[in-house]
Amino acid sequence: MTKATASVALFTADLRLHDNPVLRAALDSAHEVVPLFVLDTGVHAAGYDVPNRRAFLADCLRDLDAGLRERGGRLIVREGDVVREVCAAASECGARQVHMAGDVSLYAQRREERLRHALEADGRQLRVHDAVVTALPPGEVTPAGGDHFAVFTPYFRRWTSAGLRGVIRAPRTVRVPEDAASLPVPSREDTPGVSPGVAAGGESEGRARFAAWNGRPMKDYADRHDDLAADATSRLSPHLHFGTLSAVELVHRARRTGGDGAEAFVRQLAWRDFHHQVLAARPRASSGDYRPRGDRWRHDEDEIAAWRDGRTGYPLVDAAMRQLRHEGWMHNRARLLTASFLTKTLYVDWRVGARHFLDLLVDGDVANNQLNWQWVAGTGNDTRPNRVLNPLTQARRFDPDGTYVRRWLPELAELRGPSVHQPWKLPGRERARLDYPEPLVELSAGADRFLRARGLEGRSTRTG
Ligand SMILES: Cc1cc2nc3c(=O)[nH]c(=O)nc-3n(C[C@H](O)[C@H](O)[C@H](O)COP(=O)(O)OP(=O)(O)OC[C@H]3O[C@@H](n4cnc5c(N)ncnc54)[C@H](O)[C@@H]3O)c2cc1C
Repeated sequence: MTKATASVALFTADLRLHDNPVLRAALDSAHEVVPLFVLDTGVHAAGYDVPNRRAFLADCLRDLDAGLRERGGRLIVREGDVVREVCAAASECGARQVHMAGDVSLYAQRREERLRHALEADGRQLRVHDAVVTALPPGEVTPAGGDHFAVFTPYFRRWTSAGLRGVIRAPRTVRVPEDAASLPVPSREDTPGVSPGVAAGGESEGRARFAAWNGRPMKDYADRHDDLAADATSRLSPHLHFGTLSAVELVHRARRTGGDGAEAFVRQLAWRDFHHQVLAARPRASSGDYRPRGDRWRHDEDEIAAWRDGRTGYPLVDAAMRQLRHEGWMHNRARLLTASFLTKTLYVDWRVGARHFLDLLVDGDVANNQLNWQWVAGTGNDTRPNRVLNPLTQARRFDPDGTYVRRWLPELAELRGPSVHQPWKLPGRERARLDYPEPLVELSAGADRFLRARGLEGRSTRTG
């Protein structure tokens, strides 16, 4: 096939040079490539463009630009409606093809359709590439007679035996049309309101993090991933969200390392694919119940504010909510607990919690966030939808001496050992000195209310 003069590689959730099928295909199809990123005003209008992710994104774009420059190219940045901007860029350089990654949210699916029509009306072609955002493309494995797996375990069995595509090398050179116009690449410093502890973004940072992880820390992951104070998970989620690391490459490399830790880590990457394949098949599950339970959620603004601010009176819940506000990230075990506390103990709509998480999480992702929230709320894919996590049991198991709580709640930092989990039990004078609220709700009363609401009076909640 003869090469075209130019093509467009539209970067979306794949802000990397290594293992990028979109960039590879664009380079193979033309002599010159426009490596394009559009600061999409549609994402902004939908409320998804929040300071923590914008700051991380700016790091990613700067690093991508630097990587392209090392290879003789540069990043082309535009801002506006993504369809209009891509069509304009394609027309300016005379590109016959635009390459991009397939993605699963309703927004991404509509964007792809709009872009396809607009390009075709202009005599151009949209080429959408699979296995860029996830390791296995959504829909690659399906149950008999269904379009997606609703339960993780059978999905994981099929996922494990499915073949993954090979890893693609980073290009050596990238030739970009000289006259391609670009806005300045944004910088983190231009973003107000960023949480103080937001990690640095970018492919170089992501690859360095994975290299550090792919040894002792990953070996220990199977045993330590739920230990809140140890902070012994990979923290690669923002890199996977922005695609500065490729899920395909991580699975290959972890499998090569091998062992229980690597296997447990790969299983988590399969969870990520699982939620993506659910959302691809049921895009409306981003806002509607995947399995409606007839919930008539409570809505008490003061209780919701106490949960958001980390002032519920349950130290483990509060520590986690403060970590979220400070770092734009929260440990998975803590996400499970805080989400269970909101949706079950307080019986507040999962959408309220999911929105707050999306406002702050650097890894905030429609598939992973909305479907994990539904999983916890019992409206999603959990096969035990009515279990309620108890903050005191969780504390005993995952923060036994209270180190995690003391790290995030300075007002309790003087309390020794596990007593930090139950400040209401302290002797009167000691308790009175603490600037810390009484528990917002009695735990068993909250659990009973939830069970009644679900029509399960008198049943055990299988608390954990
Ligand atoms: C209520 C709730 C909301 C969540 N919201 C998000 C979100 O917006 N974005 C997000 O990436 N993850 C979300 N998760 C999943 C999980 O908590 C995070 O992916 C994980 O804590 C990130 O930390 P890590 O990179 O150290 O994970 P590790 O334990 O090191 O796992 C490796 C990778 O596997 C993936 N992964 C791990 N657990 C899950 C899971 N349960 N579902 C899907 N993928 C998983 C992530 O990409 C993660 O980076 C949510 C979980 C809950 C319970």
